[in-house]
Amino acid sequence: MMNTQSFFSIAGQFKAVFLDSYGVLKNHRGLIDGVKQTIDFIRERGIALRILTNDASRSQHEQYLVFQRLGLTSIQEEEIITSGMLAKQYLQHKVKNGRIAYLGTESAASYILESGNFSVPAREVDLEHADGIDAFVFLDDEGFDWNSDINTTVNLLRRKTMPVIVANSDKLYPVSKNDVALATGSVAQLVESILNRSFIHFGKPDSQMFMYAFDHLNRDGQYDKDDILMVGDTLHTDILGGNKFGLKTTLVLSGNTSSRNADLLINATGIIPDYICDSIVG
Ligand SMILES: [Mg+2]
Repeated sequence: MMNTQSFFSIAGQFKAVFLDSYGVLKNHRGLIDGVKQTIDFIRERGIALRILTNDASRSQHEQYLVFQRLGLTSIQEEEIITSGMLAKQYLQHKVKNGRIAYLGTESAASYILESGNFSVPAREVDLEHADGIDAFVFLDDEGFDWNSDINTTVNLLRRKTMPVIVANSDKLYPVSKNDVALATGSVAQLVESILNRSFIHFGKPDSQMFMYAFDHLNRDGQYDKDDILMVGDTLHTDILGGNKFGLKTTLVLSGNTSSRNADLLINATGIIPDYICDSIVG
């Protein structure tokens, strides 16, 4: 068993905390017990908060509504930073009045592709007119046929070189206590390996989300990286990303990483959190 510390005693030493969402605030059952009290603690202490989530399937506003419904009513929309927001921002800057093909649901496409571009689901791509597509986005693991639409994607990207964006690099997500499902990152990785190419990835551990959160927090120049604690349940995304960006990191054992295998995983990956807590509760 791991020797864990109290989250409150660690968080109390920082001016700001960046929290991952899934496995930290909530899990497949809903809000993790006691999280409401932790958010109250953070507010009472005047600690600034940002939520950094690798979720491209829901907009910032939809995520905000989920937290409201779960009872985390003090969370503000602008405190939530999603990998989808960053993908959308990138498309706004890089593709103008273009046609963007995607794998994902229509609702995910509707907000990410609100970038002044026209969106085309992979199933509607006409490979004979591949020239008409300007960029491709891996948005979500749902909303398409895993056989025909992934084949279309591979063939499209073989015919025409274009920017390819992965709006969420996560490979798996938990669907129950023991089981996982393949996430967008797995589909993108399959296509990357087939084509022997590297796409543009958004979301932790890539630095854009940390940079965005830091710039947003630090508009008045009051914060140093030393003042910020990154908290997450996944070594490869939250802890690696936080470490690379130069933040102190806390691994929590309430999600992806269990107390049973935390030591082994840390040793095997070399991704070392500064602190380990059972959860953000207490
Ligand atoms: Mg997580």
